[in-house]
Amino acid sequence: MFENLSERLGGVFDRLTKQGALSEDDVKTALREVRVALLEADVSLPVAREFIKAVQGKATGAAVTKSVTPGQQVVKIVHDELVHFLAGSNETPGELKVDSPPAPILMVGLQGSGKTTTTAKLARRLTERNGKRVLMASLDVNRPAAMEQLAILGTQVGVDTLPIIKGQTPVDIARRAKQQATLGGYDVYMLDTAGRLSIDDQLMAEVEAVRDVTTPRETLLVVDGLTGQDAVHTAENFDARIGISGVVLTRMDGDGRGGAALSMRYVTGQPIKFVGLGEKMDALEEFHPERIAGRILG
Ligand code: GDP
Repeated sequence: MFENLSERLGGVFDRLTKQGALSEDDVKTALREVRVALLEADVSLPVAREFIKAVQGKATGAAVTKSVTPGQQVVKIVHDELVHFLAGSNETPGELKVDSPPAPILMVGLQGSGKTTTTAKLARRLTERNGKRVLMASLDVNRPAAMEQLAILGTQVGVDTLPIIKGQTPVDIARRAKQQATLGGYDVYMLDTAGRLSIDDQLMAEVEAVRDVTTPRETLLVVDGLTGQDAVHTAENFDARIGISGVVLTRMDGDGRGGAALSMRYVTGQPIKFVGLGEKMDALEEFHPERIAGRILG
C-alpha cells in the first residue's frame, strides 16, 4: 500500500548504517521524505510541519525489528500516527447524535460541494439503517431548482420533504420544519442550508440565524474532498463562525489523495464522519481513517 514512500525511504536508509534503533538523524532524513509525501497528498504546509514534529518524537529511539527495514519502520509509525490523528478519540465512525426527537441536523457548505446529495444520502441511511423517521427541508430560497432537487431525491430515497412555500425566509422554513417534525412525530429533521460559490457574510449570517432557532444536534460541513487547500479554508471559516460538529468529505471516489482530511481535522478538531463515494444515493460510507491514511502515504 505504501510502496512509493517505502521505496523512497528504503533508498534513504541504504545510505545509513543499520542500527538496532532509529537514531535522530535517521528519523530526520526519513521524515523529510514523509513531508514531501504529505505535501504531494495536499496536506497543507503548517499541518504537515506540525504532524512531522509529533512523529519525530515518537520515532526517535524506536526499536527496529529484524523483520522490517528502518524505512518500513518509519512508514509504520507515520501511518499509525495518521490513523490515530484522523480517528480522534472516543468517536465511533458514522455515528450521529439523533436522540431526543425531533433532532435537528444542520447541513452547511459551499454550493456544488455535494450538500443536497449528501443530505438525501444521510436521510436514507438514517431511515434504512437506524430506523429513524426523517424529514428534510431545503432552505435555499434563492435557488428554486435546489429546493426541487431535494424533493426529487426525497421521493427517490423514500424520505419526506417539507412542502415548498414560496416567499418564506430560511428562518421561516426552519421553524416550519421544526413544527412539522414535532407534530408529525419525526425522529430527525435535516436542514439543507443555501450554498454560495464562496464564503460571504450574508451566507454566514443566514446560517447563524437558522442555527439559533433550531439548536442543531449536529452541524455537518459538506466539503469537496478534491478541493484540497480550499476545503481547509472553508472548514476553518464555517467552524469559526457557525461551529461544526463534523465533516462529510465528498468526491472521494475521485483520485484526490485525501490530504485535506488531515488538514481539516487539525484545523477544526472535529471528526470526519462520512465520505461520499459517488453520485448514487447509496454511495456514502462512514469514515475509515486507515483508508485515508493509506491514500495520503500513497
Ligand atoms: P450542492 O450544491 O452542494 O447541494 O451540491 P449537489 O448535491 O447538487 O452536488 C453537486 C454534484 O456533485 C451533483 O452532480 C452530485 O451528484 C455530485 N456529487 C455529490 N457527492 C458526490 C460524490 O461523493 N462523488 C461524486 N462523484 N459526485 C458527487
